Amino acid sequence: MNEGLATDASPLLSLLFDAPPGILAAALVWGLIGLMIGSFLNVVIHRIPVMLQRETDNFIALERDEPMPHATRYNLIVPRSACSSCGHTLSAAENIPVVSWLWLRGRCRHCRAPISVRYPTVELLTAGLSALLIWRMGSGLEGLAALLLLWTLVALTFIDLDTQILPDDLTLPLTWAGLLVNLPGLFVPLPQAVIGAVAGYLSLWAVYWAFRLVTGKEGMGYGDFKLLAALGAWLGWMMLPLIVLLSSALGAVVGLLLILLRGHQRDKPIPFGPFLAVAGLVALLYGQEVMDAWLGRW
Ligand SMILES: [Zn+2]
Repeated sequence: MNEGLATDASPLLSLLFDAPPGILAAALVWGLIGLMIGSFLNVVIHRIPVMLQRETDNFIALERDEPMPHATRYNLIVPRSACSSCGHTLSAAENIPVVSWLWLRGRCRHCRAPISVRYPTVELLTAGLSALLIWRMGSGLEGLAALLLLWTLVALTFIDLDTQILPDDLTLPLTWAGLLVNLPGLFVPLPQAVIGAVAGYLSLWAVYWAFRLVTGKEGMGYGDFKLLAALGAWLGWMMLPLIVLLSSALGAVVGLLLILLRGHQRDKPIPFGPFLAVAGLVALLYGQEVMDAWLGRW
């Protein structure tokens, strides 16, 4: 009687159950770890721009021989997470990814100020993508290294959405890390990684200057060049055309939708980093298949 059910099972389910059980378990475990990483990424996304601003303020004050405006310690660890409205320090129970937000119904326990849905969103997104990545790539060295790339891309995406900045503090270490993991050729042979980093930077740099010379406007920022350099270092130069094409197409579609739906001002720049990050992730997870299909036609 249930035979119909078994054969009608969606392709996704059959795909899941065809995977070796070890991979499924690893994906599940890394999904759960991803929830906690996502919680930390929320801190990174919120604090790195603030840290950069404080550094700049302090530097300017120092130059003018004025007292530094930000003397207290502020980094990714200190101070502990607190409500942005009333300053109430979060207890461990109020800091459980997703669960606490649901339990508190998205409000601070003390002042009832709403807590942004962004927090559980970043946590769930990080968890889901971490699980997918491990399911695709396994939990060997390659998969674990790729998780670092994924998590950095999530942080960069939301920082760019918030502030239109891709901080050097993240893009530069990501580039070195890409070259390092490819020292033994984890993803691509080292020469392809080195050329990828250089070509990634230069290709967007060239587009930027061409766009600027023709239109007199800045289409993107130097952070975008550095992010593409990082993706080139991780995935090799052969993935660059795919990443550039995909991110430009995504950017064009989303930009058009924003103008149509929300009357987004044409002159107001839309951050390009999130599109690069999404395209980079697609290249990481499915790039080989895309390239094989692509080259197979020639
Ligand atoms: Zn509060």
